[in-house]
Order: sequence, then C-alpha cells, then structure tokens
Amino acid sequence: MTMTCLEPATSPEVCEVSAEPLAVLAARAAGALEKSIQRLVLASDQNLGHLERRAAHDVQELLRQTVGRGAQAKADATPPRCPVCGQALSRLAPGHPRTFDTRFGAITVQRTRGYCKRCHKWRVPADAALGLEETAGYSPAVQDMAALLASKMPVEDASAVLEHLTGVKLPRATLDREARRQGERAEALRTQLDCQAATEKQQLELTLEPYQMIIQLDAWNIRERDGWGQSQALRRQGQEPERWHWVYTGTCFRLDHRGQTAGGRPVITERGFVATRAGIDALRQQLHAEALRRGLGQAAGALVIGDGAVWIWRLADDRWPQARQRLDFYHAVQHLAAVGRALFGEDKDQLKTWLKPLVKQLKNGSAVKVIGQLEEALAAMPSGPAVQTVAKEVHYFHEHAKRMDYRAARRVGEPIGSGPVEATCRQTQCRFKRPGQFWSQAGDEALLCLETFWRNDRWHLLFPHTAFNPATN
Ligand SMILES: [Zn+2]
Repeated sequence: MTMTCLEPATSPEVCEVSAEPLAVLAARAAGALEKSIQRLVLASDQNLGHLERRAAHDVQELLRQTVGRGAQAKADATPPRCPVCGQALSRLAPGHPRTFDTRFGAITVQRTRGYCKRCHKWRVPADAALGLEETAGYSPAVQDMAALLASKMPVEDASAVLEHLTGVKLPRATLDREARRQGERAEALRTQLDCQAATEKQQLELTLEPYQMIIQLDAWNIRERDGWGQSQALRRQGQEPERWHWVYTGTCFRLDHRGQTAGGRPVITERGFVATRAGIDALRQQLHAEALRRGLGQAAGALVIGDGAVWIWRLADDRWPQARQRLDFYHAVQHLAAVGRALFGEDKDQLKTWLKPLVKQLKNGSAVKVIGQLEEALAAMPSGPAVQTVAKEVHYFHEHAKRMDYRAARRVGEPIGSGPVEATCRQTQCRFKRPGQFWSQAGDEALLCLETFWRNDRWHLLFPHTAFNPATN
C-alpha cells in the first residue's frame, strides 16, 4: 500500500496527516473513548448527551482519515477514461490536488487529469468516480445535506441546523450556492426522467387495469425580486414591476392507493408531486410524465380535479382529453355562498337557512336542480347591483355543470375535492412564502425541483449513497 500524504502544499491547516495505519488511529480513538466514559461518570454536571458529543469528537479524526484514504485509493484505481464518452484519455498528468469538505472534515485528493480527444475536453475521471464533479468543494454526503436542508428551511437556519446536528460548517452563502447547484442538477435529471417516461409509454403494449388515475392541479404565488432595484425606472416607463408569480402545482395518484391509517385517517400510499415556476407548459409536461410513472398508461380511466381556474380546464382538455373533469366541491360551495350573500346581504341566519339544503342537494342530488333554483332566485330578484353578481354565478354553475357529478362520485368512492393538491400547496408555501422572503426564478425553480425529488421518493437518484444500507450490504 502506498501512503500518500493527502496534504497539498496550499492548505497546510487541512492535514496534519501522518502516514499512520488506521489501526493506530483506531487504538488512539479507543483510548480517548475510554477516557470520555470516565469523564462522564466523574462530572456531576454532564449527562449522556455530553458523552454522545464527545464520542463523536473522539472518532472524528479516524473517520476523516478513513474517508481521505478511501478517496485517494479510489482515485488511484480509477481508469484514465473519459467519464462522459468512455474514450481513453491522453496527455495524462497526475498529481492535481483537490481539497473538499466531507461529513468528517476537509480532505485533499491527488487526481490524474487527461485529455479526451472525442469530447475535446480535459477530464478528471476520479472526480466522477468520487461523486465530486458538479460541486464546488463538497463530498456527496455534504451535497446531500445542503440540498435537503435548503429545500426545507431558509438558508440562514439551514446553515445553523447543519452545524448543530453534524458539526459541518457551511456559511449561509456557500450553502445557498451548493443547494442551488444540486437543484440545477435535479432539474437536468428531471428533464431526462420525464423524456424517458414519455417515450417508454409508447413502446409498451399496455394492458389496462381497473383503477382510476386522479390528477389534481392548483397554483399559488411566490414573491420574486427579478428587476430588483429597478422599480423606479420601470415605473417611469409606465410599467409596474411584477413581484408575484405563479407556482403551478399538481399531484396524481391511483384511486386504489387510497386507504386509511389504523386511526381512521385517510391516506394516499403512493402519490406523485409536481411544482414548477416555469409556467403552465412546464407543468403540463412534468405532471404528464409523473402521471405516466404512477401508472396513467394502464389506468382504466383518469379524472382531473381542480378549482374554477380557466387554465386548469384548458390544460386538461389539451393534455388528457379522455379524462373526466370535476370541479372541487368546496369551490362550488363558495360560489353558492356568494349567491347567498348577494341575496341576503348581512343576514347570516337567512343565508344559512337558504344555503344548507342547496349544499346538500349539490352533494347528494343533482347539480341541474341546484342551477334551476339559482335561476328561479335570479328571476325573482328586484333590479340592483346584486343581480349582476347572481347572474355571474349562475353562468359559472352552467359552465361547470358537467363537472359537478358529486352524487355519482360519492357512490363509487371517488374524491369530490382537491384537498390533496391544496395540502401540498400549503406545505410548499410554508417553505417558500415566509415574511420578507424574495426569490429569483432560477433559485426557486431549483429548490422546488429538489422538493419534488424528496416528496416523490426519488432523492436517491440524485444522491445514490442515500439508498445504500451498510447494515445489509
Ligand atoms: Zn469524452
């Protein structure tokens, strides 16, 4: 075994690496651990938490050097081939140091660089083998932690939480950059996976199975600072700077994947999520691919549920013309209530008395009959501004009448509301709509993409090591 000092000349603080065998380091760590146990017993002001912290500290150097040597050995054993096209590299030059942070501290690896005549590019095959290629200076475990934390909480919190839980120090700006880099990698992977899903479907001879695919869509808005600092200039040109933009969200699941917890709470065991800031076309493409991955191709039927937003039904007609459509029941009820308010003003008791049987009729009876009653109410109204409101609502009900088959839906156990997608929106907004937060389009799309990988249980495709179980492998 060759013992290479991992230390480059440039950063002497990183490595006081001795060429000691791991067994020596392990024996030293074992001695320190024994002492730590004694200290815990002697110190009346320390509890088990103190030992947990100290024990992790005692083995840190052993782990750092293990990872450092593993990285060097893997780099040395990597064949000099282009990681992109497989071509043997020429003009090989060994000894290029790269220092990066790992879960256990900074290490430096000497790598060999070579030229790929096919790609016309210099390549470092060891970087690809180690999982370092598209990162500034972080090992895959640190990339994973930065990406996950930044997609779950504001970066200033993420930085502090990371250090608190793991001891890994990533300043806020660095963590932000690294998470965004990982998010961009996720976006590229998403595009690739979506293309695969779309082409695989056509190649397969699909046999239909007796389940329904439920697709739900919604949107919420996010505050961005594109054109930040240019508000005055824009206003002088007669333009109002746009701050709020739509995030389009969708979810899809098989109806037979809906069940209940032991406590009777309804759950959906497998569900796909999509969220994008890149417009309706992006949503259409991403949600269709997600639905295909979740079994749309074999579904006996599909059902789209959404609120009254025009874009939802245009998208549904265009992308899933065979699918049935249903208006979210609770939105329909809100529109009934709007009619009630126009009829009875501030008289809440009268409104309630009027509304209750209509809601029941809509849910258990016929939408046509509900519309009939609304029309009667409209005809009996004295002229005034309220007439317009009621007429508008009657038009709304006519427009969506075919999407209000709530009685039939309840009979066959289908959902009548878009609760799941609205819940998803609320959860995502908890991260993305905090007071004083602004986003840029590139930044929020990258983080939204990370969030969907996590929710769709596809995190391991970005960070393969997270699917690896050392206990069983
Ligand atoms: Zn190549």
